[in-house]
Amino acid sequence: MAIWNLGSINIDHVYRLAHLPQPGETIAAQGYALGLGGKGANQSIAAARAGASTLHLGAMSDGDDWVPRRLVDYGVQTHLIQRQPGQTTGHAIILLESSGENSIVIHPGANRQIDSAALMAAMDEITAADTLLLQNETSLQVQAAQAARAKGAKVIYSAAPFDLQALREVLPYVSVLAMNAGEAEQLFAAMPGEIPVEGLLITRGAEGAEYRDLTTGETTHQPAFAVRPVDTTGAGDTFAGYFAAARDGGATIAAALELAAAAAALKVTRAGAGDAIPTYDEVQEFLQ
Ligand code: ADP
Repeated sequence: MAIWNLGSINIDHVYRLAHLPQPGETIAAQGYALGLGGKGANQSIAAARAGASTLHLGAMSDGDDWVPRRLVDYGVQTHLIQRQPGQTTGHAIILLESSGENSIVIHPGANRQIDSAALMAAMDEITAADTLLLQNETSLQVQAAQAARAKGAKVIYSAAPFDLQALREVLPYVSVLAMNAGEAEQLFAAMPGEIPVEGLLITRGAEGAEYRDLTTGETTHQPAFAVRPVDTTGAGDTFAGYFAAARDGGATIAAALELAAAAAALKVTRAGAGDAIPTYDEVQEFLQ
């Protein structure tokens, strides 16, 4: 009955530019925004906003106090986040051209320096009624997944950014594998046979999403809601967090898919990542 999320925390620095700089070129930005991002933080915010008791497990510097404060404002429990002196909080430099084209540099920093003993101690309380969320932006996913499954918890893994080696290692401990269309294509090309998980959640942008229950062979389709897209950053994370929270709360696959698609559609109408994830009430109103 709780969502545990071993996930990245990134500070997003977003610069609006007339054009992306060429090698050797220096240009002045036309605008700047600071926001909260990282697939992990985004998914925690989505799960918390969906109403699940959400504990974020991750790592960041011992500064940047506005980050955990903001996560708390969004309903995320932050006491298990590792504060690491001497480490840099993960961050992203996002260059946005007026055409919509972008270039992004990510510095993983503390996200890839999770302390194993502290993580295992924090995860001691996870139970069979809980769900562990994982993405591929931290270290120690396999260890966390293994520990969660040993306690009988469900494990939902977002295969993003896609890395076949990382995926193969964690797969034996995964209950539900979440991917976008591009990631699913890479997975099916690399593993044409049976995928040893309980379910596959595949999102297809404006074409919607589907859940394949591999235990029954049943596929449930969810169309996307028609919206005017402003910024699709974090759409998949909003979907995954809302879906996990709804399932954790006992929703059917169909109900969880609908709620997640509505939340992701609303997110797409807003600029930003974690800060742009809608509240449960906003999603309910959208669904009226
Ligand atoms: P990711 O952000 O991981 O690449 P997708 O692009 O597949 O993931 O988007 C995740 C979900 O967000 C989709 O299944 C859909 O429900 C919603 N979504 C994404 N783009 C749009 C869009 N243009 N219009 C409506 N919903 C969208």
